[in-house]
Amino acid sequence: MADTPAPVIDKEALKRRYAEEREKRLRADGNDQYLQLRGQLAHYADDPYTPFVQRAPVADHVTFAFIGGGFAGLVTGARLKEAGIDDVRIIEKGGDFGGTWYWNRYPGAQCDTASMIYMPLLEETGHMPSEKYAHGPEIREHCVRIATQFGLYEHALFHTEVEDIRWDEAAKVWTIETSRGDCFTARFVGMGTGPLHVPKLPGIPGIEDFDGHSFHTSRWDYAYTGGDPADPRMENLADKRVAIIGTGATAVQCVPHLARACGTLYVFQRTPSSVDVRDNRPIDPDWFGEIAKPGWQDRWLENFTANQGGLTMAEDWVRDGWTEISRRVRTRIMQLPPGEMTIEKMMAVYEDSDFEKMEEIRRRAETVVQDPETAEKLKAWYRQLCKRPCFHDAYLQAFNEPSTQLIDTDGKGVERITKKGVVARGREYEVDCIIYASGFEVGTEWTRRAGFDIAGRDGQRLSEHWSKGMRTLHGIHAHGFPNAFFVQPTQGANLISNVPHNLTEAGRTIGRIVAEAQSRGAEEVEVTAEAEQKWIELLLTAPERLIGGPDCTPGYYNNEGQPRGPEDKLNFVGYPAGALAYFKYLKEWRDKGDFEGLEFR
Ligand code: NDP
Repeated sequence: MADTPAPVIDKEALKRRYAEEREKRLRADGNDQYLQLRGQLAHYADDPYTPFVQRAPVADHVTFAFIGGGFAGLVTGARLKEAGIDDVRIIEKGGDFGGTWYWNRYPGAQCDTASMIYMPLLEETGHMPSEKYAHGPEIREHCVRIATQFGLYEHALFHTEVEDIRWDEAAKVWTIETSRGDCFTARFVGMGTGPLHVPKLPGIPGIEDFDGHSFHTSRWDYAYTGGDPADPRMENLADKRVAIIGTGATAVQCVPHLARACGTLYVFQRTPSSVDVRDNRPIDPDWFGEIAKPGWQDRWLENFTANQGGLTMAEDWVRDGWTEISRRVRTRIMQLPPGEMTIEKMMAVYEDSDFEKMEEIRRRAETVVQDPETAEKLKAWYRQLCKRPCFHDAYLQAFNEPSTQLIDTDGKGVERITKKGVVARGREYEVDCIIYASGFEVGTEWTRRAGFDIAGRDGQRLSEHWSKGMRTLHGIHAHGFPNAFFVQPTQGANLISNVPHNLTEAGRTIGRIVAEAQSRGAEEVEVTAEAEQKWIELLLTAPERLIGGPDCTPGYYNNEGQPRGPEDKLNFVGYPAGALAYFKYLKEWRDKGDFEGLEFR
């Protein structure tokens, strides 16, 4: 293909437009604009998928208790089982394993990172993903597969929320109390509660007044819509007028299905998502057979991380939107003359590449959407990593369906909900059903999201230990909280384009540490204050993050555009040398076997 000349871009005009669009969306109330699912709104959090079964409270002891039955709990549980720890108890507020894949059964739910690297333990379970980007039912089944294969159902407690965890210094165990009246002890605890599991509603006046039907996307009501996650045709919506509020990554995936199913669909937009090409396709079993040689998934994980985060030019096996972002920037950086490889020049090159990419995505909207006015409103005016990048080949196309109307609120959001419908830009849209694609609590205090505040040695609460920002070693251990492990990306690799990679490496590490503690006959393992401090000092040398900068349009990536406290850096930081280097470092650290920085007692 002949090289097409790079489009001429008026950078100053784009910067002005980005700033204007940001300005429209800034609100003094920041995160407080959202509503918690409490009181009259509590029913929005009810589990529509699994009946609640009464059971007697549990009062026993297990070696390991893990809070959260999503990927974090599954991979850690699997590694603990491999390490010979038989009594692993997973405590999960949903009715089964799966975490985000348990709750998010909306039509079209699909992983946004390639299945080959997104779905954990593929090699261990022998599962071949059916598509480059697998759909929700397959991912949920995979969670059940992992839990079954590794015997994690035996001690699991579902529909159960932890209310209190405290360290018992005399007995060297954690005492755990739950919403089901359980009170049991565990030698070790792990937490994988994820940042995106508490649904939130937009704080729109009148939200309680609506007389029609309504639900949040993470509690999809198939009894109302018809269909099911595997066949989301939703025949009951054929004569319905439906409003969906929100146009983030969730809406991008479910709007195409709604557009096909609904009599009338109104999509209420405050800020457009950037929607790039998806290019999903089935996985060919012959190709997979060639790939799936021992150690394949680790090699794929490494390859993606190298391509996504590093300056190396490893052959890109995954080739998706995430690695493309990096490839573009890297190619431009490599073209800089040797004497100009400064941070400033690299950042300028990155900015240019971003302008080009976003222009390309905006042109895609023009090409795909037939009505030019609608196409214009679907264009995103911000840098690509200001908001979660989306990839889809049917979302923009959905606005060509005669049933579907984009109701753009020009950055202001929906004004009011009435008994009959939704008001935006001064007009009332009467509807039978409102679907809230309004996302999850992310930027709020973690205790509000977790619902408990772990009490460590001497009763010190984790919220106190982290009051000036998160403090850990490797993102996994916190001083004063012996035998407790955190399974999440921050202060570790911080790799957000493939979150499960962070979780699998943490799970592996924890499996090794617990096995080591058992073999040494140690009752306690804890990071020393010095090792934790040294890690924090190292993290503080990391460059500022590229995601959700202060100039970005508001959203959960940048605290809804509000200034952040000094603790912010620690709450979002990763290993200064990047994700690939972190995973290498962590592997060497655990393989050395002395677990430097930890004390076994
Ligand atoms: P988001 O928080 O991304 O989106 C919420 C939407 O609601 C935004 O479009 C927001 O607008 C809109 N909104 C909020 N208040 C109002 C209002 N008053 N009036 C009108 N609109 C309003 O939630 P999602 O559930 O879409 O996604 C959350 C995250 O979950 C993603 O960022 C991603 O990390 C993850 N996810 C991952 C998927 C995957 O990997 N396959 C799929 C789906 C989600 P505004 O942008 O202006 O704030």
